Amino acid sequence: MEIRPRINRWTHSRRNLVFGQSIAESLVQPHFVVSGKGVNEQIHGMPGINRQSSDVLIKQISDDLSIGITSHMIFGVLEDQHKDENGTSAADDQMPLQQTVRKLKEKFGDQIVVMTDSCLCTSTAHGHCGLIQDGVIVNDASVDMLVKISLSHANSGADYVCLSDMMDGRVRSVRRAFEEKGMRSTGVLSYSVKYASSFYGPFRDAASSAPTFGDRSSHQMDPRSDYKEAILEAEMDVREGSDILMIKPGLPYLDVLREVSSKVNRPVAVYNVSGEYSMVMEHATDVENRHKMVVEILGSFKRAGADIIVSYHTREAVGRGWV
Ligand SMILES: [Zn+2]
Repeated sequence: MEIRPRINRWTHSRRNLVFGQSIAESLVQPHFVVSGKGVNEQIHGMPGINRQSSDVLIKQISDDLSIGITSHMIFGVLEDQHKDENGTSAADDQMPLQQTVRKLKEKFGDQIVVMTDSCLCTSTAHGHCGLIQDGVIVNDASVDMLVKISLSHANSGADYVCLSDMMDGRVRSVRRAFEEKGMRSTGVLSYSVKYASSFYGPFRDAASSAPTFGDRSSHQMDPRSDYKEAILEAEMDVREGSDILMIKPGLPYLDVLREVSSKVNRPVAVYNVSGEYSMVMEHATDVENRHKMVVEILGSFKRAGADIIVSYHTREAVGRGWV
């Protein structure tokens, strides 16, 4: 079966909400959802960013929408009791992420764009982004599981399923599954160029997804690699049917962002990751100082060619009218 991305997916659909020209219109606010009720706990190293239960998160997104933030990326955080070797809970329609997406789409419909993170690191007991056999990550079995997770997100109403794992061939498999099930309105955002970076620390705490052994250098890219690999990875995802390409992290890879966005004919997103956020929050504790820094950082992403900017600064930048 031929898999063709639909070009008009982002030109005349509600999803053009996320492809604005201004910085404010390009911003996406990340969220972390946990089980329970009334949970609103601050994440270590990330002031202003909380782990929230569904009820609190829905209220939060409602408040965000009232100040003009329309695009949201949601990470499901699972408790240890829901983790196993195969990460099966991540594909369970009754988990907090899926429940929240359903409620959000019921409540806000096309007023908001909901992007969901589809990976295995938050649901596997070992914390890796793929399934492990004999101590190594096995690609194809991991992809099968990622397809199940992505279908479950699409079923809940996600506008974009975001593949953050970097396994080979997962974009094609997920896109094919969507086509076969007639899920024509769910787009695929793929982390095409994701480096094995040292800037992810606070996130792994937030999402409870740190690997219990080893690292992610087998599937994430070497920070020292050249442009050619980045372009190759991006072009591969385009051929497989990705609608949006993600570059991650942001600040140390502005050159890669520029290179990919100028060479690849797809919208390009950048992730202003937790470590980058923490550096700013730790240094610029007074608002005026932070204002200047945040505007400078977000502006650099835009200048380098980002169509979409996923950033923990979104709420403050939009809320205070900095962008
Ligand atoms: Zn992962």
